[in-house]
Amino acid sequence: MSTAAIRDLSVFGEAIAYFNEAASLLDLSPGMRAILTHPSRQMIFSLPFQRDNGDLEVYTGYRVQYNFARGPAKGGIRYHPGVTLDEVTALAFWMTWKCSVVDLPFGGGKGGVTCDPSTLSTGELERITRRYAAELVEVIGPDKDVPAPDVGTTPQIMAWFMDTYSMHIRQNVPGVVTGKPLEIGGSRGRVEATGRGVSIVALAELERLKIALKNARVVVQGFGNVGSYAARFLSEAGCKIVGISDITGGYHNEKGIDVKSAIAYAQEHHSLDGYRGGDRVAGHNGILEVECDVLVPAALENVLTIENARRIKAKLIVEGANGPTTPEADAIFRERGIDVIPDIVANAGGVIVSYFEWVQDRQGFFWKEADVNERLREHLTFNFDAVRDLASARGVSYRTAAYMLAIQRVKTTLEMRGVYA
Ligand code: NAD
Repeated sequence: MSTAAIRDLSVFGEAIAYFNEAASLLDLSPGMRAILTHPSRQMIFSLPFQRDNGDLEVYTGYRVQYNFARGPAKGGIRYHPGVTLDEVTALAFWMTWKCSVVDLPFGGGKGGVTCDPSTLSTGELERITRRYAAELVEVIGPDKDVPAPDVGTTPQIMAWFMDTYSMHIRQNVPGVVTGKPLEIGGSRGRVEATGRGVSIVALAELERLKIALKNARVVVQGFGNVGSYAARFLSEAGCKIVGISDITGGYHNEKGIDVKSAIAYAQEHHSLDGYRGGDRVAGHNGILEVECDVLVPAALENVLTIENARRIKAKLIVEGANGPTTPEADAIFRERGIDVIPDIVANAGGVIVSYFEWVQDRQGFFWKEADVNERLREHLTFNFDAVRDLASARGVSYRTAAYMLAIQRVKTTLEMRGVYA
């Protein structure tokens, strides 16, 4: 099938388009290019589980381990009705470059179960999680593959996952998964880390663009883990959050949304539905078109497309979500001079603190929250600066520079290790 045909069908195909653009600027042999554009391992499981009423149902679970060159696979687990092998493969592919661009000793992985967690009771969620973890026992572990939370999964789900793995191998292994509750080996600062990272790079870029923080206008799509913390940290830094949204709709308030009360509302009602702190914006993606300085898409992939890219009124886009911008939209933003901080850098705060959690679990020595936050800031800023320097040296976008750095590192590692062929 031609690359164009694959792209029409596939999230992974879209993801590869970015890889190809960066790879064409690097000295990659056809063999190296082939290795880096193929997932190492893709797994699909049937997951029978029992509903509370006793009925048996079968869900489908996936785990993709995209690349191991730089270390164990690393990447979250998604519970969502839209989960497919193609989507999980794309997410595992992005994790490979994300871990590399922020220089972590990990490869890339991702997993998921095609389900709607909002329709499952706590007991049902626990049973599906344990069955999924049990299917993975042989192929995961602190030195093999280390999952984490993603859309629809929580620290509690990570706790069940860690417990199931530990029961099967008959020893306590907190480092098999990150994003756990503190009580069982989680890291301080992990829950907030992705949103904190989004705010760190957004603030650094606003400074470069000479946009005053005070009253810089921000719109955030998605009000889950990433979006709500990004909104909170940006508003604490002095920005004005003029729009927020979740699956139930968008809310716009030119005077500024009170983020703390919106978070409290979303926690109490499990969504923003009925929130009164702003005017309703029609449609899931309507919020993206609100005029602002900074737009943070922090929900799902492919929301900034050829359809709406010309109507986006932001000066800077900071990709909290994975893959929110299609390559066509990205080209339009470049042409319009809209800066985009790509997902693999913008939302890397989560995996950086997951790395810190894995280190702490292995040492059995836990850090103070201030130390975690400071090391996150230092690590992310250092690597974001390297991306910005490369972008200006080569005259390319931040996204292309980020992929170039990431691909170059994986290539060097593979060349040193040698290809076992
Ligand atoms: P989450 O489940 O906590 O929140 C997702 C949010 O998006 C919810 O508010 C949901 O209502 C909203 N949403 C879903 N569909 C929507 C739609 N069509 N329109 C508007 N809002 C919609 O998930 P999360 O962990 O915050 O992840 C969000 C994104 O960030 C995903 O792309 C994920 O892969 C990425 N990400 C997450 C982490 C992490 O540490 N959690 C790290 C890196 C990247």
